[in-house]
Amino acid sequence: MEKADTPLQQVRANIAKACTIARREPDDVTLIAVSKTHPAETIEPLLRQGQRHFGENRVQEAQGKWPALREAYPDVHLHLIGQLQSNKAEDAVALFDTIHSLDRPSLVKALGKAMDKLDKRIPCFVQVDVGEEEQKGGCAVADLPKLLDRARDADIPVAGLMCLPPFEIEPAPFFALLDKLARDHGLEGRSMGMSGDYETAIKLGATHVRVGTALFGERGKPA
Ligand SMILES: *Cc1c(COP(=O)(O)O)cnc(C)c1O
Repeated sequence: MEKADTPLQQVRANIAKACTIARREPDDVTLIAVSKTHPAETIEPLLRQGQRHFGENRVQEAQGKWPALREAYPDVHLHLIGQLQSNKAEDAVALFDTIHSLDRPSLVKALGKAMDKLDKRIPCFVQVDVGEEEQKGGCAVADLPKLLDRARDADIPVAGLMCLPPFEIEPAPFFALLDKLARDHGLEGRSMGMSGDYETAIKLGATHVRVGTALFGERGKPA
């Protein structure tokens, strides 16, 4: 009997298929394995299969897990995908390679300062509140031009835009909106799509998909 595909192989195959349909190159889509809540033992099998981009949503949790894993896999690329408090900006810049949740002027200020201090400039995605749901974070669509200007003034490398569309509504219109906003502002990166909708996101231009459950299974309830 043939050995069954691993979840990682399945997700990669689905990405390749979506790229074929969208006439895009699979290399133009970065798969971020969202490992939040999962311990090192669960992450290691993916590392052994060659996965290198991982996403975490809490600075403190990532500080506990990743330094040791990184010693074994120095080419790991860590993405912060969760909301970031300004007082954690320096810790975040020290640990992460990319930040996906830049969403307000006070955070621009804190990240700019942290990057100056650590002499390390890391690419950031500006999170846009496409569904007008304040609790998820993200800057209002109307505030985006000003926030992008501030980020440039602070010498923060802006990689693109990120969104987290509302749950249980067809996400395609939100992905299309993010794609349009990125195009309007001449930005390359579009961080959009999760386990339930990454193929749709790829068809609408995603360059970074953030996939947790489809790779690791359901997460336990937070304590
Ligand atoms: C948890 C999380 C994901 C991954 O969600 P899944 O549905 O498990 O794939 C993606 N993006 C963000 C911002 C998240 O917090």
